[in-house]
Amino acid sequence: MQTEIARTDSELNTNDAVRSAVSALQTGDVVALPTETVYGLGADALNPNAVEKIFSAKERPHFDPLIIHVPHKTALYEVAEISADIAKTVTQLVETFWPGALTLVLPKKPIIPDIVTGGLPTVAVRQANHPIFHRIAKNFGGPIAAPSANLFGLLSPTSCQAVADQLDGRIPLIVDGGACGQGLESTIIKIEPGENKPIIEVLRPGPVTEVELKKFGKVVFSEKNFDVEEAAPEAPGMLANHYAPRETPLRLLESPESFSPEEGKRYALLSYRGQSKDGYVDLHDWDEVSVLSPGSGRVAEAGIRFFHVMRQLDLLNVDEIIAEPVPDRGVGKAILDKLRKATAK
Ligand code: AMP
Ligand code: MG
Repeated sequence: MQTEIARTDSELNTNDAVRSAVSALQTGDVVALPTETVYGLGADALNPNAVEKIFSAKERPHFDPLIIHVPHKTALYEVAEISADIAKTVTQLVETFWPGALTLVLPKKPIIPDIVTGGLPTVAVRQANHPIFHRIAKNFGGPIAAPSANLFGLLSPTSCQAVADQLDGRIPLIVDGGACGQGLESTIIKIEPGENKPIIEVLRPGPVTEVELKKFGKVVFSEKNFDVEEAAPEAPGMLANHYAPRETPLRLLESPESFSPEEGKRYALLSYRGQSKDGYVDLHDWDEVSVLSPGSGRVAEAGIRFFHVMRQLDLLNVDEIIAEPVPDRGVGKAILDKLRKATAK
C-alpha cells in the first residue's frame, strides 16, 4: 500500500487534506491525524470493519481498547451513559477541559461496537483540541476511534515523519499537521461518586495534571494503572515493553550511583535539564546527551519534547539509552510512567 501525505501548509492544501481525510473515514478506511497530544490513527468508530483496520495496521491486540473522539461536547451523551450521581462532575470537567487532553472513561451506549472497547462495558471519550482534527471531526460528524498512530508498544508519534517511520506502507493517508503541541497522550480518568466529593481516578497520567483535577474531586492514581500491561495480565510477555524505542534498549536510573557502564558499550543520556549539578551529565563520557527541558527544568516542556527526543536518540544506534529521572509532579508523572514502561525488563 502506498501511503499518501496530505500537507496543510496552505489554505488550499488544508482544504484538500480535510476532504481526503473525511472521505477516507466515510469509506471505512484509516487515516493518521494530528491532535494536540500525539498523532492518532483514526477510523469511523461506529464501523467495526473500519476499526478492525486500526488494530491490524498497529498490530494491536484486540483486548486493548481505543479512545473515541467526539466532534463536539454534547456528542458525549450519544456514546456514553452518564448516571445522575456523576452528571454534574462530568459536565464541569467537559466544560473546563474540552476540547483538550482529558479522556473520560464512562459506561458505553450500545451504539459503540465491542471491538472499540475490547469487550469492556465502558468507553473512553475525548474531544481533541487541534484545528485540523477539529475540522475533520466536524465534517465527518460521527465519533472517530483514534489510538496513537504507532505500532503497538513503540513510541507515540508527535510528527508526520514519526508516523511515517512506523506506519508507512500500512495505512493509506497521513494528514501532516506539524508537531504536536502537548506531545504526550491524554490524561485518562474514571469518575465515581464519593462520600463528600466525587472520586477522580487517574488511569493514565498525562497533560491534565492532579492540581488541575483536584478542583473537581478527590484525585487518586489507579493502583492497577490501566495502561495495557495490567489490562491484560494473561499476556505479560507481549506487553512487557510499552512506549519503547524501536532499536535501542532504555534504562531509567533511580540515582546516579546505579549506573555502571560496561566496557566498550556506547551510551546516550536522556537528561532532564542537562545540568552537571544534577549528577548525571558528568557521570560518563556519553556518546550523546539529549535534554528534555533545556536549562530551565520545566516538566511541561519536557512533556512536549519527550517522544521527539526519544525518537532522535533511537536513531543514533547507541547500545543503550540511559534516562535520568524527572520530577514526580505535574506532567512529570506521565513522563516517569512512560520511562518505566519503556525500560527493558
Ligand atoms: P492510546 O494511548 O491512544 O492507544 O489509547 C488507548 C488507551 O486508552 C488504552 O491503552 C487504555 O489505556 C485506555 N482506554 C481506552 N478505553 C478504555 C476503557 N474503556 N477503560 C479503561 N481504559 C481505557
Ligand atoms: Mg498508544
